[in-house]
Amino acid sequence: MNSLDDSLIAEDIDEYLLKHENKSLLRFITCGSVDDGKSTLIGRLLFESRALFDDQLDTVTAESKKWGTQGKDVDLALLVDGLAAEREQGITIDVAYRFFSTDRRKFIVADTPGHEQYTRNMITGASTADAAIVICDARQGVLTQTRRHTYLLSLLGIRNVILAVNKMDLMEYDESVFTAIVDEFRAFIEPLSINEVIAIPLSALTGTNIIEPGRQTPWYHGPTLMSCLETIELDNEHARGKPFRLPVQWVNRPNLDFRGFSGMVVSGTVKPGDSIRVQPSGSGSVVERIVTFDGDLAVAMAGQSVTLTLRDDIDISRGDVISTADEPASTAEQFECTVFWMHEAPLFPGRPYLLKIGTRTIPASITTIKYQVNINTLEHVAAKQLGLNSIGVCNINTEQAVAFDSYKDNRDTGSFVLIDRASNNTVGAGMLHFALRRSDNIHMQAVDIDKNRRSILKGQKSCVVWFTGLSGSGKSTIANLVEKKLATAGHHTYLLDGDNVRHGLNKDLGFTDADRVENIRRISEVATLMVDSGLIVLTAFISPFRSERQLARNLVKDDEFLEVYVETPLALAEERDPKGLYKKARRGELKNFTGIDSPYEPPQQAEISVDTSAMDAEQCADAVIAELRRRGMLAIPEVG
Ligand code: ADP
Repeated sequence: MNSLDDSLIAEDIDEYLLKHENKSLLRFITCGSVDDGKSTLIGRLLFESRALFDDQLDTVTAESKKWGTQGKDVDLALLVDGLAAEREQGITIDVAYRFFSTDRRKFIVADTPGHEQYTRNMITGASTADAAIVICDARQGVLTQTRRHTYLLSLLGIRNVILAVNKMDLMEYDESVFTAIVDEFRAFIEPLSINEVIAIPLSALTGTNIIEPGRQTPWYHGPTLMSCLETIELDNEHARGKPFRLPVQWVNRPNLDFRGFSGMVVSGTVKPGDSIRVQPSGSGSVVERIVTFDGDLAVAMAGQSVTLTLRDDIDISRGDVISTADEPASTAEQFECTVFWMHEAPLFPGRPYLLKIGTRTIPASITTIKYQVNINTLEHVAAKQLGLNSIGVCNINTEQAVAFDSYKDNRDTGSFVLIDRASNNTVGAGMLHFALRRSDNIHMQAVDIDKNRRSILKGQKSCVVWFTGLSGSGKSTIANLVEKKLATAGHHTYLLDGDNVRHGLNKDLGFTDADRVENIRRISEVATLMVDSGLIVLTAFISPFRSERQLARNLVKDDEFLEVYVETPLALAEERDPKGLYKKARRGELKNFTGIDSPYEPPQQAEISVDTSAMDAEQCADAVIAELRRRGMLAIPEVG
């Protein structure tokens, strides 16, 4: 504690508290191989900083409790043991965040395990970090894990990387050991997008070069670890120099006279009078006021949450991005990106997910996996899906245009997460590279004869009747009967049946989960075209996954999709076994068979369910037709 603080506490306690409240906050992550000394290093930082403010803040501020997590009588060894024990027990995907504070800054350190199976933890911890400490053992040098972690840091665009060469005490503080490791590390990062590394020789155990420069390393003239952490540039500070971006969190309209757009400035600065552009719509205006709880501001900068009012009454909604008019964000709906997969259920191209970018959440799907990266060797390998903890370079398609920047230009407007539509879990994270095509260059061709005209000519309302159920449940039998009955009554129909489609359109696809997803995606697109042509389309596919059935549903209007769940217990379907497939699967001659070694997810809200154990096929078909009639599909639609 310095004497200035002493006298501040004595004279002006409010001023002192304010000073601590206004201290900047650095978030950093520690990574490195097992046994490199990560726990000891974190323990040391907490211990030393605790010592720093326990002396000073004991009774002064509640903040010390908030940021200094450790009690008074904890010694370093205990602390370190505690961290290690916690890690051994906590085989969770959580990231342990620890807080500490010094005179100059507050810190949050994300501590994640180093093994490959914890990659998602590391990504989570690093995604919000301003800096990273890569720890390596002076005796071991740069190991596979060191390389993997550093590669991930470079992908995430961490600008401040500190190479902590630990356990220098065990190498007699030998300068040549340090230099050799630093040279090897620099050679490794050369092709990666890490600009600069600060390398520090230290000993977490003895404290050398952690807080005080070590007497044992007279040849080292750089900063200590703590002074480095206290002075490196925060992301917020760095982002101020970039073009202005504010993703709109909500539109504030307390009364008719006030319309403000609230959110956090993620980069750049803004002042009243600045010209802005709203993306993706592209409309322009001028900033009138910057409103906050504490009154209007003359300028707002990255990291501040504000409400802007504009000179013109333009249409802006949540999820839009307000940019400087000079250098606006881009808009597109197809991108190349890097995706980290963080979920046990793999990523499949074609499967619909929700993509959250900034304050916007929209449906999206990966169209192609260009390649997967082996994160230990950095080799590119071909992939049809991405499993837990894998990284791939992919093309992605969003349902509508979004405002974005390339990740290398802006970490906030260039990154996204992917969310599973059913569970709402975050399953992936990604970084946008560039737009594949600009959405404004591709227009749907307007045609004069539309779906309505075609339906009227056919005396019906076109729709998809989507049968789903186990193999042998009766989908084909019932769909076939329904089609026969409809045709007899003069309706225009088409039956898309599993086996027939697999002989033509989808003959290149097998039965892996990835291929099943693609199979249903193509069928959904074909069914949609057929609905547009005015037909009543019947599809008979197992379609085992909810998310693909949802995709098919989303392609047409709400009232154009009827899901028919052909409900047959597995035992009954297996007993019928019309094609002998269950027997084959049970003998192990048929892999990935639904119900046996591949899952079936029953519908939760099908429009129609038919129980084939209680009704015969005729009765089931009649039930489907009755439902179509009830929904007005079999009457001539109104001209509109
Ligand atoms: P899927 O198309 O679902 O694989 P299929 O229609 O090819 O199933 O086979 C279903 C088998 O079950 C047929 O042999 C059919 O005659 C028989 N079956 C028995 N009862 C029913 C029923 N109530 N509905 C449909 N099919 C039934």
